[in-house]
Amino acid sequence: MRIQLLGTAASEGIPGVFCNCEVCKACRALGGKNFRSRQQTIIDEGLLIDFPADTVMHSYVHGLNLSKVHTCLVTHSHGDHFCPTEFFIRGASFMDLIEERMTIYGTEAVLSKIEKTIENPEKSRIAGILIDTLFESFEVRGYKVTPLAADHDYATCGSVLYLIEKDGKAYLHGTDTAYFPEETWSFLEKAGVHLDAVVLDATFFTWDHLTKTGVDGLSYGHMSMFCCAQVKERLEEIGIADRNTKVVLTHMAHCAAATHDEMQKKADAYGLIVGYDGMVIDI
Ligand SMILES: [Zn+2]
Ligand SMILES: [Zn+2]
Ligand SMILES: [Zn+2]
Repeated sequence: MRIQLLGTAASEGIPGVFCNCEVCKACRALGGKNFRSRQQTIIDEGLLIDFPADTVMHSYVHGLNLSKVHTCLVTHSHGDHFCPTEFFIRGASFMDLIEERMTIYGTEAVLSKIEKTIENPEKSRIAGILIDTLFESFEVRGYKVTPLAADHDYATCGSVLYLIEKDGKAYLHGTDTAYFPEETWSFLEKAGVHLDAVVLDATFFTWDHLTKTGVDGLSYGHMSMFCCAQVKERLEEIGIADRNTKVVLTHMAHCAAATHDEMQKKADAYGLIVGYDGMVIDI
């Protein structure tokens, strides 16, 4: 499985386009790995995770031919992950007429966002499939996909995490979420897989006071780098991950980030890898 991170920031991007804070100024001056766009991941050539407005830019910057994409797994309805207005570019006057529909998997919040935005899904050659049961696997072109519970305001955005397996390899897509809910831990404990790669939500990277219990018991719907280290520790404890598992951080927010090199220096102590736009994880 070839996993490529196309966007690794929270919703405002880094540098935040309208922001002049010290982190954004430093990242703007340095460029390269310090430019982070909105969330999207591509697996092999045909399986997308999330569909933000940055999709067009991702295809140019990373030289991708998205005509090969057959499926998009959507994590939740927040705009930095899912911008269905962009599906108009799949209309007949914007592309070669192809018969194949792109299948969009998502929970109720995701599908109702499509319904509210796209008048005629047929024109955009998309077909939505509802995920109404968590922890129940489905098959997508040889991939076994299992939606898991996230701690990220499910009631309004229908957030899920995805466990994706193929050819004896397993990848856990773990954003957006705070420390995993207990039901997800019990599923993972019994899943009987070995995780080769995990991507985790490190939105509040520098906030060490944000731990697995949140802050003063309050969930922030996201994690810090330290909290991600606690997830890694428990994944190893329950035997689903080990020191060969690549644990990569994403979804950094400008208000709790630093430059890429500064963040990597801090993450080194915990065996964590700081993701960046374009990063390829081969498993
Ligand atoms: Zn997000
Ligand atoms: Zn900023
Ligand atoms: Zn979100």
